[in-house]
Amino acid sequence: MALAAAGGGRRAGRVRILANMRKASAWLGKVRIITPILSPRMSPVAKSHADVRAKIRAALLVWYDDNARVLPWRARPGTRADPYRVWLSEIMLQQTTVAHATPYFLAFTRRWPRARDLATAQDADVMAAWAGLGYYARARNLLACARIVAQAHSGEFPDDEAALRMLPGVGAYTAAAIAAIAFDRPATVVDGNVERVIARLNAVETPMPAAKAQIAGMAGALSSAERPGDWAQAMMDLGSMICRPREPLCPRCPLAEFCLGRASGDQAAFPRRLGAKARPHRHGVAYRLTCNGSVGLVRRPPRGLLGGMLALPTTAWREAPWSVAEALAEAPTPADWRAAGEVEHVFTHFSLTLAIYAAGSDGPDAPLIWTPLDEAAAATPSLFAKALRGLQTAPDRGG
Ligand code: SF4
Repeated sequence: MALAAAGGGRRAGRVRILANMRKASAWLGKVRIITPILSPRMSPVAKSHADVRAKIRAALLVWYDDNARVLPWRARPGTRADPYRVWLSEIMLQQTTVAHATPYFLAFTRRWPRARDLATAQDADVMAAWAGLGYYARARNLLACARIVAQAHSGEFPDDEAALRMLPGVGAYTAAAIAAIAFDRPATVVDGNVERVIARLNAVETPMPAAKAQIAGMAGALSSAERPGDWAQAMMDLGSMICRPREPLCPRCPLAEFCLGRASGDQAAFPRRLGAKARPHRHGVAYRLTCNGSVGLVRRPPRGLLGGMLALPTTAWREAPWSVAEALAEAPTPADWRAAGEVEHVFTHFSLTLAIYAAGSDGPDAPLIWTPLDEAAAATPSLFAKALRGLQTAPDRGG
């Protein structure tokens, strides 16, 4: 805005400055109101920056051709990926890292190599294979989505964003990512990595999450109509490998000369954030009953946190710690229950201290799902896997 008001001489000056951001940094230090390079509005200023956007696109795609991450769901730059593998990876990566998701992706695609195969899987098998990835509603949606693709789309994912968004568990981001990466359709793909790159490139002062729409608009203005799939993955890779959250590697960045965040000297402070709210803390008790090398599990109710997953029996999770008397009164079956430590776990919206009570049983009479100890940890979410760890060699009684 300030630049638009300042007249043509200064606009021309700014174009020159953008060509050499090192020189610009001193100037930008004096003028704190900056029209973003990637403004979605086609104002005269934005038009004058069209060549800058073209240079950014070219620089990033050249960098991507040489530096793209090799990932099991990826096709090499310039080639088309399998939509099923793109979809599966995007669902798995929604709340976890590439390193954590990769073994799950490999196991899923070995066992269910196509959407049609996954569609015929048993719910319990998919939930067990998902155990440890968290956010279990996604596993239920995964299965529902595979079944719709198999039945309504002859086993092939639709190739446009609108149809993809009709599928269970496929939101705006995932639909855009599949459309761009698997079908090379122009789409604006904005994940956390892309938000960070765009916020820094433009030195966006609006704090998150209020800045999301502004950043999405900027990302859309910058999106490449040429090689949309590679463009989307290049932005993700730049955010993951170079424009890292804490220590951006600006000297290695192909966009360094265009970056207003870098010019400000405080690039790691973008995106701006308001102070985080304190996460509430809760307490619960879990019961580990063992018998003849097996442990008694339950299946949690289908809806809600960890819904449908195998788990140790627990109390409710509440703000106040459970006394011993309360914990014993809630036990799933009478036994010689003993306190056996605690597990700490952090969910998105709260943290949890889970006290473990353990006992051995003479016979598997209790109405529990008796599961071999060496399989139980892998079949349960990580909260319960932590509670089961170390139990495989424990004696049944008093274990
Ligand atoms: S120059 Fe630095 S802050 Fe700017 S986009 Fe590149 S890595 Fe991120």
